[in-house]
Amino acid sequence: MKFFKVLTLFIAFHIHAQDPMGVHFIDVGQGSATLLEFPCGTILIDAGGENNSVVDGKERLKSYLQDFFKRRSDLNKTIDLFVLTHAHIDHTYGAQYVFDNYTVKNVITNGRTFGSGKKNQNAIQDAIKELAANSDPDDDIGYYEAIADDIDDTGETSIVIDPIECANADPQVHLFWGRMLDRQGLNNTEYTNGNNQSVVVKVTYGESSILITGDLEEDAIDLLVEHYESELDVDLYVVGHHASRNGTTIELVEAMTPEIAVMSFGDPRVTQSWTAWAYGHPNVDVVEILQAHVTGTRPEKEVWVGDGAKKFYPIEVDKAIYGTGWDGSISFEAGFDGTWSAPVFKPTKFLTGSSLINVNNATQAELETLPGIGPTKAKAIIAHRLANGEFASESDLLSVSGIGPSTMSQIRDLIEY
Ligand SMILES: [Zn+2]
Repeated sequence: MKFFKVLTLFIAFHIHAQDPMGVHFIDVGQGSATLLEFPCGTILIDAGGENNSVVDGKERLKSYLQDFFKRRSDLNKTIDLFVLTHAHIDHTYGAQYVFDNYTVKNVITNGRTFGSGKKNQNAIQDAIKELAANSDPDDDIGYYEAIADDIDDTGETSIVIDPIECANADPQVHLFWGRMLDRQGLNNTEYTNGNNQSVVVKVTYGESSILITGDLEEDAIDLLVEHYESELDVDLYVVGHHASRNGTTIELVEAMTPEIAVMSFGDPRVTQSWTAWAYGHPNVDVVEILQAHVTGTRPEKEVWVGDGAKKFYPIEVDKAIYGTGWDGSISFEAGFDGTWSAPVFKPTKFLTGSSLINVNNATQAELETLPGIGPTKAKAIIAHRLANGEFASESDLLSVSGIGPSTMSQIRDLIEY
């Protein structure tokens, strides 16, 4: 049947002609920032990150976005939709930077005005109100306040929630959660917990789909699954609450049936407060749930998992489970036909094995690349090594003249023994 052959070719050509959706998990340390790239637009979900003497998540986000918009100069530094899942600093730390340096066309927040990341969320919410109030309609930014109680059975969508429509590939965006007006049976602690008011976003691109649950915790996840179970089936699960023990349930994973899971957390070798190390992310139980349910695979890899705060040990994973604290920034291409590329990793510079300075064999010049280490301290480290043998631990290094706790806190995550 000649006609059908021509028709098949025509359809095949058109499916082939649709550029894939790029899905970028930016390594901002402990925190989240996920960039979705379409043929004609972008969505940024969260702009958070870690901030201490070793990691500046905002700088990492900045450099990733600069490289991205250099490559996609056709997008004119425009973010068509900017979602803040909730007002915690690990999700909003770089939000003001994004808002000030890119053309942001639409914004979704849960409308809350308190929480550790309230400063940037409030500034953006206030700026949008001011722009709407002035006499110039051209500078208005679309805004949607996500309220869990308002969302209907198939999820909420609108021209603000789903502003992107490319020539022959139209992504679909639906919301499934947000600020709760009704407690829905949650007790006071659960209800006032900002995590449980996270905006939940599902993005579907043809046959490809992803779900982001922000930092929603178990009790709210149970409500989400109860209300929307049949809507939650996706290919890629952006693992909730940085793979904290309370951010993923088996029921949720069973509703999603994910092929791939990506966790956004910091490298546990950064041993400071408010880090993945301090929280024990990613939690071993969550990684095991994912190992049991994720259908895709990756070449076997030894990874570090947390067993409570500050306690880590290595395990092997061979399912398609990825983590920014393990792999650096991670990106995929998701086809309109539902096929996902292998991930591309962009290792974060100072955490690649080769860039850690081994204090037992580093030269003076190598030691001097460390913060706070000048020629005198570098020479002292080498002299101590020659006189006393190899350093085995932090306390050995602290016995070097000139190396005190403050120097140690600067170099701790940049060295190995
Ligand atoms: Zn978080």
